[in-house]
Amino acid sequence: MSAATLVTTPRDYEKNAWVSQSARFDQAARRLNLDDGLYKILSTPTREIIVAIPVQLDDGRLEVFTGYRVQHSIARGPAKGGIRYAPDVSLDEVKALASWMTWKCAVVNIPFGGAKGGIICDPRYLSPLELERITRRYTAEIIEYIGPERDVPAPDVNTDEQVMAWVMDTYSMHMRQTTTAVVTGKPVNLGGSLGRREATGRGCMIVCNEALKHLGMPIEGARVVVQGFGNVGSLAALQMAAAGYKIIAVSSIEGAIHNRHGLDIQALIDYRRKHDTILRFPEAEPVDRDEALLLDCEVLLPAATENQITSRNAAHIKARVLCEGANGPTSADADEILDNNKIFVIPDIMANAGGVTVSYFEWVQDRQGYFWNLELIYERLQEIMTNSFRDVVRNAEKHQVNNRMAAYMLAIDRVAFAIRLRGLYA
Ligand code: NAD
Repeated sequence: MSAATLVTTPRDYEKNAWVSQSARFDQAARRLNLDDGLYKILSTPTREIIVAIPVQLDDGRLEVFTGYRVQHSIARGPAKGGIRYAPDVSLDEVKALASWMTWKCAVVNIPFGGAKGGIICDPRYLSPLELERITRRYTAEIIEYIGPERDVPAPDVNTDEQVMAWVMDTYSMHMRQTTTAVVTGKPVNLGGSLGRREATGRGCMIVCNEALKHLGMPIEGARVVVQGFGNVGSLAALQMAAAGYKIIAVSSIEGAIHNRHGLDIQALIDYRRKHDTILRFPEAEPVDRDEALLLDCEVLLPAATENQITSRNAAHIKARVLCEGANGPTSADADEILDNNKIFVIPDIMANAGGVTVSYFEWVQDRQGYFWNLELIYERLQEIMTNSFRDVVRNAEKHQVNNRMAAYMLAIDRVAFAIRLRGLYA
């Protein structure tokens, strides 16, 4: 019997991202001796917006979708965070994702607060025109709460450059002026930044490089398993393969593939573009999607969705490094199991911060009206990611905690400091 079939189901509360976020926040706040007032401020999102989005479908029927925008904190600057389209989006999930954005921006020390948005819908069953109408109406419904100085959305699961272009255009129509800095992750020809598309995956690679260096392990030939083959997973895999890593398995929602000699990632991307799936890729064998996470490897890179590593399977993970490309891929209950097994965790609020870092560059470039070359973007991304990796590892050593706790403590301390300076709670 395989390891995956031996294990039990995750506990129900483990599936709630807000519970996962709050458990880590509580623990870090306790260790920091955070005062009661600041605890209350930081455990409560600043604003939770729920909107009804009436849209005419292509067949003439009217449908009403539900959309959310949560701003967790604006203490360190305008709120910042993606918009996701998925059938299982919930207010709790968006609240958790918004808080993680606050902590993430603080870990990499960029001047943003945290926000997130989502619409309950299944893009697989919507035409491009329907998606455009939903996006435009959602943008109009939240228009007074977003803006370059207020809240700056970006792409997330199932949203892309095109969706960002529609948000920018709708906002600009209402403002009667083109306002590119209202969203990031736009097409390069419309105020987007070079390097944004691959930024999250590149950030993952940079922190993996640092982790392997820290552990005294070679990059060349290090075996990597990637869960999720979307923006983050595919571009992390592509860049890591080019840097010498060996990507031995990749999964997506429909299944997983494995080749112990390493997959040709560019060929896989081309194959997926042509066939709309990674399955039946000629130079690989199929493997169970959940079991792919348990393969023997140096780096496991979950880049799909929340709560993939839980009390159910954490004990069976064999990777030496867990690099969290996704937001919240690990439940709070799994943390202790990973700790006991000495797995070096690069927590989401640091590992996937490359995306928001280049989003920050995009926002700066839009406001300057002056665009940087790719070399400069990569150089500045490298500097920010390696500095934050070192800050987190140093904090972990100083407080004798794991990397996740160290990252939360660093972030909470920075946000609390800003709140005290602003005197918001006086
Ligand atoms: P995406 O929609 O481009 O890709 C998601 C991928 O995950 C798809 O390949 C999908 O098939 C796969 N997937 C979904 N469920 C799966 C499962 N159970 N097992 C295996 N694969 C599964 O999304 P994305 O933008 O790449 O985002 C992925 C994660 O990274 C999310 O948690 C997101 O919040 C986070 N993130 C994204 C960015 C960004 O810049 N896009 C930045 C930071 C964090």
